[in-house]
Amino acid sequence: MPLQAEALSKIYGTESNKVTALNNVSITIEDGQFVSIIGPSGSGKSTLLHLLSGIDKPTGGTVLFNNEDMYALGEKELSAFRRQKFGFVFQQFHLIPILTAEENICMPVLLDRKQPDQEYLRELTDFLEISGRLSHLPHELSGGQQQRVAVARALIAKPQIIFADEPTGNLDSKSSKEVIELLTRASKQFGATLIMITHDLAISQLSERRLTISDGVLSEVESQ
Ligand code: ADP
Ligand code: MG
Repeated sequence: MPLQAEALSKIYGTESNKVTALNNVSITIEDGQFVSIIGPSGSGKSTLLHLLSGIDKPTGGTVLFNNEDMYALGEKELSAFRRQKFGFVFQQFHLIPILTAEENICMPVLLDRKQPDQEYLRELTDFLEISGRLSHLPHELSGGQQQRVAVARALIAKPQIIFADEPTGNLDSKSSKEVIELLTRASKQFGATLIMITHDLAISQLSERRLTISDGVLSEVESQ
């Protein structure tokens, strides 16, 4: 199920405050690939990710997923669509502090009034090496462990795409390496496309398709 963006743009503010964060971006992302998007701070990376994933509405253009126009959906339908088809990993881990690791992981499924698949939960948490931490609260976990909980949460609903926005931005270099390694392997293992924003060249070089963004304009990095 490809993700297709056509002539996407995003303009913030009006008149003298006007910022063109994204300028006429068209792209098709095929299933199962690891795609990286690299670019300097303020270049429009997060804006693009928000538009591709149904978090924020574009000023112009369309996003189709499996030929369905995402922004033609109503608010409620769109948030259910997002929860069921996409997983998210952010720089700030965004775990709920009063819930255990397991409760945080299962949240997207529980919000859909479903029960988590226990066998899959076990497989996922074993894979991410956090099985022994499931009853812990986020503040009892290291940064790397918290982000691995967030990765498990991103995968629990068996999404087709994982969107990751600078997932290692708050981690030391050792935890960064582990999280990237596990996130990329887990996406393959569980069959999800991975779209990752980074400003780390070494991380983007691990991806199968490299995109770069500059002043809101997206382009392909040709492989050497
Ligand atoms: P990146 O993720 O590459 O650092 P962003 O997509 O967050 O960049 O931002 C792109 C541009 O849009 C920046 O100039 C930023 O200041 C502006 N911008 C982002 N969000 C908003 C907003 N909510 N209101 C106004 N301007 C914004
Ligand atoms: Mg950003």
